[in-house]
Amino acid sequence: MIRGLFVLYGLLFYSICTGQNKSFPSSDFRPPFDGEIQIIGTFCELRPNHFHGGLDIRTGGTIGRPVLSIGDGYISRINISNAGYGKALYITHPNGYTSVYAHLNEFPDFIEWYIEKSQYLQRKYEVELYPEVDLIQVKKGQLVAYSGNTGASQGPHLHFEIRETETEAPVNPLLCGIKMVDRMAPSFLNLYIYRKDSLEKLHNGHYPAVALPMYTTQIIKKGKKKKKIHVPVSHHTMAFGTYALAANLRDYATSLGDNNGVNYISIYKDGELFYDCRIERFMFSQIRMHNNYVDYRLFKTKGLKIHKLFKDDGSTLDFWEHSPTNGWFVLDDTLWHQFKIVIKDVYGNASEKTIFISGSEHGRKVSDYIMHYKNVKHCKASSNNKLELSKELNVLLNSGTLYHDYLLNYERNSNGTYTIGHINVPLDKKMTLVYKLNGFQIPLGNKYVVKCNDGRVYGGELKGLNEYHVQVRDFGTFQLILDTIRPTIKPVSINKNGYFSFIVSDNISGIKDFDFFINGTWVLLKYDSKSGLIYGKIPNPLITGKHIIELRVRDSRLNERIYRRYIDIP
Ligand SMILES: [Zn+2]
Repeated sequence: MIRGLFVLYGLLFYSICTGQNKSFPSSDFRPPFDGEIQIIGTFCELRPNHFHGGLDIRTGGTIGRPVLSIGDGYISRINISNAGYGKALYITHPNGYTSVYAHLNEFPDFIEWYIEKSQYLQRKYEVELYPEVDLIQVKKGQLVAYSGNTGASQGPHLHFEIRETETEAPVNPLLCGIKMVDRMAPSFLNLYIYRKDSLEKLHNGHYPAVALPMYTTQIIKKGKKKKKIHVPVSHHTMAFGTYALAANLRDYATSLGDNNGVNYISIYKDGELFYDCRIERFMFSQIRMHNNYVDYRLFKTKGLKIHKLFKDDGSTLDFWEHSPTNGWFVLDDTLWHQFKIVIKDVYGNASEKTIFISGSEHGRKVSDYIMHYKNVKHCKASSNNKLELSKELNVLLNSGTLYHDYLLNYERNSNGTYTIGHINVPLDKKMTLVYKLNGFQIPLGNKYVVKCNDGRVYGGELKGLNEYHVQVRDFGTFQLILDTIRPTIKPVSINKNGYFSFIVSDNISGIKDFDFFINGTWVLLKYDSKSGLIYGKIPNPLITGKHIIELRVRDSRLNERIYRRYIDIP
């Protein structure tokens, strides 16, 4: 009983220290590397278009550092891909959590053997494998991989996550016993104030906002000399209305200067807690809600990643604990109201900023120009919208694609492209463009792609008699183009000690897959999409006699290039 009380007291103490009240496995795991862990990216850090799902751990600028299992368990998933996480390993642990290790370079022999067997079985290099429960068991601290730079990684590091096994929701690994050195408190860079104006939101796609100056410059006289000094600004008078705040924040762990995420933000209004945001966990289905959490317009126009200190319309994130008004407050009197904003990292290093805001008839007004367009369609966030833009193009915006109702603007440009919506308005799900093809276009239907002016190319599919459906990620300007051009293949090494390599490329839709044959038998080669290199050593050396080697490479529109060569081994 006494021991039980101690445990309870310990838990209570822990939750007071960290400011959290969900429970996490704080003592089951060890770090994925031996030695000091240096973290260059934290959980839920605001990244372009997504929350960061885990920790980025420094590997000293090199690949090949031994990666160790953080706990007992079994390998439940292995991914070999050129996109996203690259080569990735998933270990399921008996405590209800799964650890994820990504951008890996290679694996110990027993795992490499399993992967290669599966690649030959499926006859492809990129595979997603789910080994049977307990087939590949591992112990805490066991070597399971070597770190790398594969997939969408831009430099050698380990991307590491801890997920709830059941929901696959990533949680903050720093709450699960993975420790980093962090002695520095987060700090404030800028503050902003937003006015709740539904009309502006409907037209422009966002609430109007202005920066609240944190400092003003004053010139003071010192004897005969004049000197400029920065004086903090703490009082702001706004026009009567309903408002919320936002902040640009920074958190360094050490003086090395890596900017981390701030996970805990509270606001006390006139001494009472009225906004409490705790970023400890999210669902992968919510990863795009990053664009609803930050000020997406400031992100698109200035690259700023601002924490909006209110739960914006359409958000299903569960970051907010005690926030009865979701961060909005009404200014309807001329009294000074105190707002104390407290920001904290996961170790409780904290900073605070106090400002005073009053209402006034003559106070500062917050409003933007309302955008007026020639062609608009009223879209409801909560229903399916089918918009007929012209005889050749319809747009489908299903329920939940937009975060709020929006007057969607569109235009057919003189070069035949379509501009749809404003790029400063985020979409949660993809929008579908439905092109109605004419008699000349129908036979080539599946060779079409849609190119967005941001550079992205989307492949779609022919549906029904003449409809070409393509899902696009964001608003923008779109062009329907044909891709009938085959990829290119340039041989680099042909059978040098059994090693083959080729450089491949594609002009529009990109390389989809490839097959390599020796005398008609499929042979595994690897592919690195960053360098365009298809390469590898064949399992058995070629014997004396004539051989045919053949490489077939296809792009996303299934245009295929075949490279064939005869080899005579004397
Ligand atoms: Zn990462």
